[in-house]
Order: sequence, then structure tokens, then C-alpha cells
Amino acid sequence: MALIVMKFGGSSVANAERVMNVARIVTDSYAEGNDVVVVVSAQGDTTDDLIEKAREINPNANKRELDMLMTAGEQISISLLSMAIEKLGYKATSLLGWQAGFNTNSVHGSARIKKIDTSRIKQELAKKNIVVVAGFQGLNKYDDLTTLGRGGSDTSAVAIAAAMHADRCKIYTDVDGVYTADPRKVKRAIKLNEITYDEMLELATLGAQVLNNRSVEMAKKYNVVIEVLSSLERLPGTLVKESVKMEKMLVRGVTADKNVARISIIGVPNIPGIAFKIFGKLAAKNINVDIILQSVGRNDTKDITFTISSDKSNEALEVLKELDFLEGRPIECDDQNVAKVSVVGAGMETHPGVAAKMFEALFEADINIQMISTSEIKISVLIDKKDADAAVTAVHDAFMPEDN
Ligand code: ADP
Ligand code: ASP
Ligand code: MG
Repeated sequence: MALIVMKFGGSSVANAERVMNVARIVTDSYAEGNDVVVVVSAQGDTTDDLIEKAREINPNANKRELDMLMTAGEQISISLLSMAIEKLGYKATSLLGWQAGFNTNSVHGSARIKKIDTSRIKQELAKKNIVVVAGFQGLNKYDDLTTLGRGGSDTSAVAIAAAMHADRCKIYTDVDGVYTADPRKVKRAIKLNEITYDEMLELATLGAQVLNNRSVEMAKKYNVVIEVLSSLERLPGTLVKESVKMEKMLVRGVTADKNVARISIIGVPNIPGIAFKIFGKLAAKNINVDIILQSVGRNDTKDITFTISSDKSNEALEVLKELDFLEGRPIECDDQNVAKVSVVGAGMETHPGVAAKMFEALFEADINIQMISTSEIKISVLIDKKDADAAVTAVHDAFMPEDN
């Protein structure tokens, strides 16, 4: 008998028919003799709708209250799925995050899991129940509800698989695996049979929504093999693991991240310590800075431009306002019109010319590059948001073989 952890995202449980479909997948696995723990997200666009409801009332709502609201979405899904399983003649128990033992830190809206006390899940499995757990949520040390950040149900599933040493961790979604680009946007995207944790982590961090990046980080840390597969078609998916068979592919994927803001500070003093003070202050507020560009100093001043996630732009501007040496210096923020397009692949470390090929593809598509950043296994460019989809297709098709 094996222990299987399954996770179903919002589109997989969007309506009654889809919930019944999930119940059939779950009960088929149980009927084969497995212990099954299922993690589910909120139905369809429920989380977005809840956020919108809050915004209508108070755009600056307290993050504790936002978490209280958002956790409601998953509560609906777990109860409905348990009822569907019962209808098929099997026993199920639904558990909210805290009942399933999820302890998190107190960063409302992007809490990190500290520990899972799996005793209740184990008790329920011992009673031969299928256990249905609300993803994306936990409880902090003050007994307040927390959420793990958008897409966080993937992390809930991997965390249970790690804590319980599950035999399989299957993440079911609305596409049948991880592709070389978003298969809904890029016609020639190729499905990958396998991908390494490191490459998947880059893809997820750079905008490939199919897995949440923290879930991949956790899978790597605890060596949980993830299978990404479709809830709508019964096909083999993509395995995410430590190492994969060498494939000829130089580039593993191309992504677009449209939640990007570019902030420029014009004419800061050209003296030591300025970058330290700016980025130190942003880091202290948990604001992750991505691409940084500093101009060569001229007339005792220099310009600093950097990118952050667009949902942090207001917070970042507040932080910058507190720095007295920036008083009176123009600060420009564009959180509407920029996007970051990236290519990822472990093979590029040993291959010259990947950057040039990417830039050529963008040039041929008549797309202007605003900023560039590179690491061993990725190259990112900041471009106009309206060009993002065209850029992904152009760059993807430049790297991928045509006969696929
Ligand atoms: P779920 O609701 O199941 O969590 P998500 O919407 O979070 O699903 O993620 C699945 C979506 O990710 C797909 O519908 C697809 O459009 C998108 N996606 C983006 N990049 C990729 C990629 N490289 N491979 C597969 N899917 C991708
Ligand atoms: N329902 C949450 C969200 O929409 C969590 C998830 O889908 O994983 O972000
Ligand atoms: Mg998701």
C-alpha cells in the first residue's frame, strides 16, 4: 500500500462536474489500495473574486483580515469534494489547514510553513478515510489564520508529501505537464517528460505559473519527486526531480512575468553606501529586488533603476520616501507597462551565444530591450508589456526544434 498525495488547482474543481471528476480520480487511486491525501485550491477564480470584494470595501485592508477572507475559498472546495467522494460510496474527511497541522510564521499573505503536525491526518487515514485538506492556509503562533501566497496550494501538497514521506506527489492541473513555454500562448511549446528542480525553480520564479516556486524549493530540499499532470485527461505528466536524463535541449523553457514594476531614482549622490542604504531598506521590508542597473556617475550623481514585483510597488515607494538623501530626487515608477521575458536552461552555462540568439530573436520581432540580467542558467530581459507574448513566442521558436 502506498501513500499518495494529490493536489487539484482551482480550474480542476471549478464547478460541480469538475468536482465529481476529481472525486473519481481520487477514489480510483483509493480503490487500488492506496492511502490518499488530497489538497485542493479554491474553485475557479474564487480567490481573485474575494480579493476584489475586499478591495471594493477597503483597498488598504489589514493583511490579517485579507487572510481570514481568502482562506474561505479553500473551505468551500474541501467540503464539496468530500461530499462528492461520499456520493461515490467512499469515506472522506475534510480538514482546514490548521486541522491538518499546518503551523506557519506570521507573514500574512505570504506565510512560510514552519512545521506540520501530521497526527490528525494519520488518525483519519487509519480510519480508512480519504483526507481532503485545504491548501494555501495555516495557523500562526497567535492562532491567526495565514495564507502562503498566490499559488500556495502546490506548496501545501509538497509539504504534506515531505512530512509524511509519501510515495507520490501528484499535482493535477489544467494542462498535461510542464512545457517549454505556456502551452496556451505558444503553439510550438513542447511537453517535457522530466525537468530538474533547479530548472523548474527558475521557470516558476520567472513566471511559469504551472508550479509555485516555493513548492519546488521545498521539493528540492526534501527530495520529493513531483509529477505534474492533467486532471482532465489521463496522460503521463512531467516529473520534477533532482537529475534527469541528458536531453539535447539547450534551453528548457521561456517565460513571461507580467507582474513587474520598474523603479528609477534619478540623480542620487555618486558616493559610497547609496546602493547599500536603498537595497538594505527594501530588503528589511521583505521587498525582493530583481534586475538592478546603475548608470556611470556624471557630475557627482548617478541613476539607479531596479525591478520588483508590481504588487510591492506602493510599499517600495513608501520605503524610498523615508530615505533623506533621496529627498527632492525624481523617482519614476512604472508598474503597468513592463514585463520580464526569460530563457532558462542548465545547458547554457557551457554554451556561448545563447544571449546573442535571444537578442537576435527580439530584434527580428522588432522588440526593444530596456534592461538585461543573466545568471548561470537564465537570461532575462525587461521589455514593454504589450510585446510580452510576441517576445515569448519569438524567443521560444528561435531555440526550439521546428519538427516538434
Ligand atoms: P492550478 O489552478 O491548477 O494551480 P495554474 O493556473 O496555477 O493551475 O497553472 C496552470 C497554468 O500554468 C496553465 O493553464 C498554463 O497556462 C500555465 N503555464 C505557464 N507556463 C507554463 C509552462 N511552462 N508549462 C505548463 N503550463 C504553464
Ligand atoms: N487559491 C489560491 C490562489 O488562487 C491558492 C492556489 O490556487 O494555489 O492563489
Ligand atoms: Mg496554481
